[in-house]
Amino acid sequence: MAATPLVGVLALQGDVPEHLKALTASGARATTVRRPEELARLDGLVLPGGESTTISKLAALFGLTEPLRARIAEGLPVYGTCAGMILLADKILDPRAGQETFGGIDMIVRRNAFGRQNESFEASVPVTGIAGPPVDGVFIRAPWVESTGAATEVLATYGGHPVAVRQGNALATSFHPELTGDHRLHGHFTELVRAAA
Ligand code: GLN
Repeated sequence: MAATPLVGVLALQGDVPEHLKALTASGARATTVRRPEELARLDGLVLPGGESTTISKLAALFGLTEPLRARIAEGLPVYGTCAGMILLADKILDPRAGQETFGGIDMIVRRNAFGRQNESFEASVPVTGIAGPPVDGVFIRAPWVESTGAATEVLATYGGHPVAVRQGNALATSFHPELTGDHRLHGHFTELVRAAA
């Protein structure tokens, strides 16, 4: 069991520094990941918020798509926020032409489900497994989960739609805890990584 697990943040595009900070505060060693050979040594991986179409295009360009799919399918603990949630979905309801995901969670997501950039909002979201007050959820052109498979556990809903889910070692939220200074979700993920190591 790794006391200080090494957790990578996929650093192709998106809010990478905020995740590095939240992971470090949660007791992980955090590092950026851009190359396939950097995947092997990781105990866990974060897929940040950003633009899922850009991240998936860059991943293909860097030769990361298949290695990432393989590591996630093997059970590498992984946490995706917002765009990262989309990348973990086995299926996107409304993909851009050619948009691919890494998969890992048996769910269908709807991109930009809560509206456009200027309809971004914050909401108090109780999350199963996170002790204390509800999490302050920052939703920025956020996806929601349209439907889930039998193995996918819904950890939180907002407006009747799942916004936090888990399947095995894969965790995803529609919102961005890395932007709030509340590190409980990253702490929860780091525990999951420790348990899996
Ligand atoms: N709407 C973006 C996408 O489709 C996600 C936005 C975000 O990560 N804040 O990738």
